[in-house]
Formats: sequence, C-alpha cells, structure tokens
Amino acid sequence: MESSYETVVIGGGVVGNSIAYHLSERYQEGILVLDKKYPMTGTSGSTQAWVWVHNKTPSWYAEFSMYSAELYPYLSKKIGDVEYKRTGGLSPFFAEKDREKAKQLADSYRKIGIKIKVLSREEVLEKEPSINPNVAGATYSSIDGNVNPFRLIDMYMRAAKKNGVQYSTYNKVTSIEKQNGTFMVTSDKKTYVCKNLILAGGTWSRELGNLLGIDIPVNQLRGQIIVTEPLKPFLNYTISGLRQAINGEVLIGYSMEKAGFDRSTTLDVIQETANMAVHYVPSLRKAKIVRAFSGIRAMPEDGFPILGKVPGHENLYVAATHSGVTLSPLIGTLLTELILDGETSVPIDRYSLSRFA
Ligand SMILES: Cc1cc2nc3c(=O)[nH]c(=O)nc-3n(C[C@H](O)[C@H](O)[C@H](O)COP(=O)(O)OP(=O)(O)OC[C@H]3O[C@@H](n4cnc5c(N)ncnc54)[C@H](O)[C@@H]3O)c2cc1C
Repeated sequence: MESSYETVVIGGGVVGNSIAYHLSERYQEGILVLDKKYPMTGTSGSTQAWVWVHNKTPSWYAEFSMYSAELYPYLSKKIGDVEYKRTGGLSPFFAEKDREKAKQLADSYRKIGIKIKVLSREEVLEKEPSINPNVAGATYSSIDGNVNPFRLIDMYMRAAKKNGVQYSTYNKVTSIEKQNGTFMVTSDKKTYVCKNLILAGGTWSRELGNLLGIDIPVNQLRGQIIVTEPLKPFLNYTISGLRQAINGEVLIGYSMEKAGFDRSTTLDVIQETANMAVHYVPSLRKAKIVRAFSGIRAMPEDGFPILGKVPGHENLYVAATHSGVTLSPLIGTLLTELILDGETSVPIDRYSLSRFA
C-alpha cells in the first residue's frame, strides 16, 4: 500500500523534528516523519544539550552556532517552554600560559561579533564561587546556555503535529528508489511516495545514504555522561564539561571514544569523568552519582555539519551534524528556506556534501 506526501523526513531526532516543524510553519499538509524507533532514542536523547558557541573553531563555525543560539528565545515563544537557559558559558583554564590562547580566541571572535571575555582568577571565582580556587582564569561568553533535550523534541513534535505533520515510529526505512521524479520510500510498514526527501538519520546517515548509493561520511564517536543526584542550585553557568539541569542534577562529561554503535558505559571513562568534575568543582566530591549513560555522536568526517541539497539528486536533502541541539533551530529554518524558496538567508555552501567529492 502506498501513501503520498509532499515531504518525507527520515529521522525524528532533534534535527529531523526541527526541519519538520519549520516546514510545517509554511505548509500544513503532506509532511511525514519516519523513525525506526522513537524520537529521542537516538543521539538526541543521550546528549549534554548545551547550546554552545564558545570555543568553536574556526570562527565561521562559531558564527553559524551563534545564529542558532540567537533563535532559541524566539523558538521557545513559538513552541513552548523547552527549559532553555542562557546561563552564559565558562571555559576555565588552570595554567597562566593558556591566557594567551584565550586572548587569541577572543580576538578571532570579536571580528564576527561574538563577545568573549578573558577573565582573571578573581573574576572567575566571583562569577562561579564553586570552581576550584586553583583556576588561573576562564573565557566567558554570555550567549552560551543549555536546554532540556527531551522537552525540546517533545515541543517540536507537538507544534509540528498541531500544524498537521504526521509521524510513523518504529518504522525503519529499508529502501529508497526514485521513479519519474518521485521518491519511493519503503519501510517496515509501507511504501511512501514523496516529492522532497530529507535524510536526517544522524549517526546512521551513512547507512541511509547507502540506500541511494550516496556516500554521507558520518562516523560514530561515543560520549559518556555521569549524572548526580539532584542538588540545590549552585552552578550559575554552563561550564565546559558540566552543567546543572533545572531539576538540580549535574550532568558531567564529554568523552570522545571510537566505539562504533556500542552504547555501553565503562568504568575507566566514568572514573576519568568524575575526576574531571572534582578538579573543576571540588564540592562535587560529595555528590552521589545516580546514573551514567552514553550517546553516539553523529560526527561528519571533517567535524562540520553536512547540510543542504544532495548534489545530482533533485529534491533530495541531507542534514547530519554534531552539535545538533545547538544548531537545530537554524538548520530547521535554513532547510525550510532552501526547500521552499530555493535559497537560504545564511549561506550554507561550505556545509555542502559536495566538499567530500
Ligand atoms: C555525549 C554527547 C554529548 C553531546 N553534547 C551536545 C551538546 O552539548 N550540544 C549539542 O548541540 N550537541 C551535543 N551533542 C550532539 C547532539 O546530541 C547531536 O548532534 C544531535 O542529537 C543529533 O540529532 P539528530 O536528529 O541528527 O540525530 P538522532 O537524534 O540520532 O536522530 C536520528 C534519528 O534517525 C532515525 N533513523 C536512522 N536510520 C533510520 C532509518 N533507516 N529509518 C527510520 N529512521 C531512522 C533514528 O532512529 C534516530 O531517531 C552531544 C552528543 C553526545 C553523544
């Protein structure tokens, strides 16, 4: 049995949902999101969820992230409370020799309008009294923050559904063909026919590309996070490495491991992560760790987003990226412009899949 849609989005993570939602602001019928499991079961449900601009390099990538962070307050107004907090971000350093590097970062950002302050030890401790008093300084940016990724996806989905977007979950796409200008997307449940097809499969992007004979060079990079019991609010800022959620839990970690799709947690990384936390914020020594989880980053081969039209394939689009939580409002906005207007308000040429050709 076939069903026809204007647009099918494969992948119901934060990226696919943002695209579906933003598209649905412009046209209300004929959008379907397919997911082989349930939204949030992919990387978007196992993330730190910082909305982070700070120390992204080169500066054009920081600028791209900044545009997205700027959209968050407006997004929350449109789709509802996603527990977005623009806390400001601190990246502490513990050796005076790192101050020069921090100043260079601040200089390179100034040129593109991102304000990074290089703080003295006293300024860091004034802002964040819980930080290790041996700190030498920190870079600080007011635009950084964090969000609740579960609420974010839930609110994207609710808003998209209100606008008529349909979802089919636990429905894996197993083959894709193009016939007479339309895509035939075959899944566990059905074959869907559509004009526009968007590949938003996150860390499974390479697999999805293979269904069309296209190489989408996205690799896997595991990250493990440990979570404390809920603590009284005591961290004012999102600190590179840890953040306190609204419910008081502190989420700690950013390990980077080549482990394929293996989502195990391992004692050595958990120990390293706990040591890092205590080094940054000594009072965490007393906190109880209540759980640990790991997630698999969708890591494009050169580390930068893969966005836009798939060269040589009309009406086929791809959106695969690390930092998808930070970038989701912008990616949804720009892909919608690209699909409906043929151009984007912020250039995305440098993120084209064609750079890997
Ligand atoms: C430890 C860790 C920390 C992170 N911290 C941050 C952070 O602080 N800030 C930030 O911005 N980003 C962070 N990230 C990255 C961010 O979480 C991801 O970039 C983002 O979640 C990717 O979203 P996505 O929608 O592309 O992927 P996913 O959420 O994985 O969604 C892809 C979906 O595609 C579906 N799918 C795949 N193949 C098929 C198929 N054949 N048929 C149907 N469905 C299919 C999957 O089931 C999945 O639900 C972190 C990631 C990790 C692992």
